[in-house]
Amino acid sequence: MRFIRRNLSLLAFLALAGAAMMGAYVYFSPASGVAEVVAAGSSAGALSAPFVKPVPARPVLQRLIQSPGPIRVGVISGHKGNDSGAVCADGLTEAEVNENIAVRVVSALQARGIAADLLTEFDPRLDGYVATALVSIHADSCDYINDVATGFKIAGSGYTDSSSLSICVEDAYRRATEMSYHANTITPDMADYQAFRRISSGVPAIIIEVGFMNLDRPMLTQQPDRVAGGITDGIWCFLDQIRSGVSYAPQFAIPPDGG
Ligand SMILES: [Zn+2]
Repeated sequence: MRFIRRNLSLLAFLALAGAAMMGAYVYFSPASGVAEVVAAGSSAGALSAPFVKPVPARPVLQRLIQSPGPIRVGVISGHKGNDSGAVCADGLTEAEVNENIAVRVVSALQARGIAADLLTEFDPRLDGYVATALVSIHADSCDYINDVATGFKIAGSGYTDSSSLSICVEDAYRRATEMSYHANTITPDMADYQAFRRISSGVPAIIIEVGFMNLDRPMLTQQPDRVAGGITDGIWCFLDQIRSGVSYAPQFAIPPDGG
């Protein structure tokens, strides 16, 4: 009793301070759960508001391959539905060379559980097309130009950063076909390719010229699985980067048709 009487003012102060801190805590606590409370610290006697860190909404980047995720790849079969492209003396057309490869890439992707669209050159679906990646398959001239008119080349979209996709396909294609990269004949036609302008911005897109129909003809016509395998492996490399978050697809949405 003597102890309580002697320390009455101290006890009253402690009770008052406790009530004040509780009041401050209740008053400053956030009303809803949209924000993440990092720290609601209150050191003895001092009033302090909780620190609130806003958490922006972020797209989901990692999905299991088996789940019907938003990963989708478009493959354009060059010239299909429009014209024949380059034509060889014996009637072999670029359009048929391209298609022979494009259908193999699409079915290989589908076999790995990826939603893949086989598109024609001026496919109506290309307007505002949303995908994880778009790859257009073409081949070079059948005319004999010179002894170095051999090899493949790739041009990326000038509208969306497509360098990761480009590097992946270049490496994988070189490894699969052992062809050389023919860099010095990239035309403005390739860099400003019509489909790049039509698809949704934010979709990484490349056009690959798989080889010259003259000097590379045996590879293109007799080993289409090898050619298609290189492109498929390159796309897979890029999708791996997307899944692991190394590459980020700026516009990474589920297509309007829902899958
Ligand atoms: Zn072409």
